[in-house]
Amino acid sequence: MNVIFHTLTGIALGSALTSREKPTSMTKKIVTPILGFTLGIISHGLLDVLPHTYPLKSHVDIIFSLVAFALTLLIVKKETIPLFTCCFLGSIFPDMIDLGPEMANQFFNLKLPTIKAKVFPWHLPQYSGSIYTKPSPISNLAHTLIIILSTITIFTNLTKTIRFKRRAAETDETPF
Ligand SMILES: [Zn+2]
Repeated sequence: MNVIFHTLTGIALGSALTSREKPTSMTKKIVTPILGFTLGIISHGLLDVLPHTYPLKSHVDIIFSLVAFALTLLIVKKETIPLFTCCFLGSIFPDMIDLGPEMANQFFNLKLPTIKAKVFPWHLPQYSGSIYTKPSPISNLAHTLIIILSTITIFTNLTKTIRFKRRAAETDETPF
């Protein structure tokens, strides 16, 4: 599946795992990001087994994904950055391992050696949902659902994750 859908899921995961209080204990500071990384990998597998096409070309896909992640880091609270980074890295990790050299070749016009063997089973032809050669309504539905569910998750958690607060002057009623 295009990396942008994994990125969006990773950002949604980071939003859902952000706690209301600042992560102060070492356990929360370390365990939650590790959990985010692991869930990111699992979400990648779930997305890849869904029937899908590739609506974005590799270059555009990678640029959009990096911009989306960079923008996320700019607007989330500083203390949540390790968590969001781990969720993002987890959600793209399987592609970095199995498809990294292939993607680097396409992106930078390199000639790195690539191998057919895959570490993650959902990249094997028999398990991957990459089964279409032409645009498909089922793939469109899968992509739309991923966008809707991720957007809902990101927006419902916005008060916990976002760095900026409305200024008091905007929220207070002006006394007469
Ligand atoms: Zn993948």
